[in-house]
Amino acid sequence: MSAIDKSLEVLEKVQKARRLYKGITLLFSSSTLLIALAVIIVVLLLIILLIPFIIFGEEEKMRYDPSMARWGWMEPKFIDTDGSAYVWPVPTISRITSYFGNRDIGEGAENHKGIDIADGAANTELVPIYAMAAGKIIDAGPAVGYGQVVIVEHENELLSVYGHLDWRMEVKVGDTVEKGQRIGRIGAGRVGRSTGPHLHFEIRLLGVKVNPLDYVKPPSAERYMPLELSYRPMRVDVTLKYLKSRNSALATESILQMIDRAGKEHNVDPHFLVAITGQEQSFVPANKKHADLIARNPWNVFGCWCSGKGAQLTTEESALIAAKTIVKLSQSRPAHVDPVYWLVSRDNPHGYYAEHTGWWIGVKKFYKAILEE
Ligand SMILES: [Zn+2]
Repeated sequence: MSAIDKSLEVLEKVQKARRLYKGITLLFSSSTLLIALAVIIVVLLLIILLIPFIIFGEEEKMRYDPSMARWGWMEPKFIDTDGSAYVWPVPTISRITSYFGNRDIGEGAENHKGIDIADGAANTELVPIYAMAAGKIIDAGPAVGYGQVVIVEHENELLSVYGHLDWRMEVKVGDTVEKGQRIGRIGAGRVGRSTGPHLHFEIRLLGVKVNPLDYVKPPSAERYMPLELSYRPMRVDVTLKYLKSRNSALATESILQMIDRAGKEHNVDPHFLVAITGQEQSFVPANKKHADLIARNPWNVFGCWCSGKGAQLTTEESALIAAKTIVKLSQSRPAHVDPVYWLVSRDNPHGYYAEHTGWWIGVKKFYKAILEE
């Protein structure tokens, strides 16, 4: 190697070192450092802000899982795609005689892939059953182990199965059914492989039999509500429009959301609560004297908005009390009696909503109008 080559090589090394030095000084120059610092601070802030959201956001999803008998992380399953709860298939019976899982009914241990609903032969035989959600009938007839069976296909890959039914089928394959539509009756006597009349109820998710009690809840004796008055999500826009056309002081989004929450809490249709204010207070016309006070108790709970306890409530409190009262008065209704009439019937052992027995006709009229709006 010549001396020139050598010196060229040295020169190249020097230039390389210089470039490296330049790069390092740029990296540590004050402006680059500031930008890096800002990026780190923003990332840290985001993490700090997200931590409570992650923790508390998840907490709402944590619920009691009856199939596992423990608290766990579960997605809510009780709510149908239409926003209201799935319907218990036998509204008149809340008793479960056999749960999902292992059992022995005298024929050796077996894995019971559904729940049995029954309440003694007299209260069970030929009792009507209802579809837990809207769907399409994909089976209606005899099946091994099920006696007569109806299978309904719902949205979200969900099937509901109703076994040990009466042989007189009330639906056929291909029919579409509404949520809560009557689809048959519980069979009489020993039907299929069973010990007595009962509904064998199954839910299948993606073909797998899952615990129905993760989806439907038996109505507790004091919480039963007829389907026509039970909760459905408030259609805020149309109800608002309806109330505005009547110059109602209740025509605000926040009041309607309050009424929706009260209805949801007690499983009462919020539109029905609004209809009652129509009968009780003509929906509280905004230009009426004391409209602001009446709007705090347009259901006249505790007798009247005008005096005593009834005059000291907020709209939210009176909505909750009205909903709770509707539930109380809905109990013990004979099957042939109109559910709205029952609320003012003098035969109702739980009391009555209004002195005037014609009350129910007005409420029904308003209720129909709001639902059809
Ligand atoms: Zn069963």
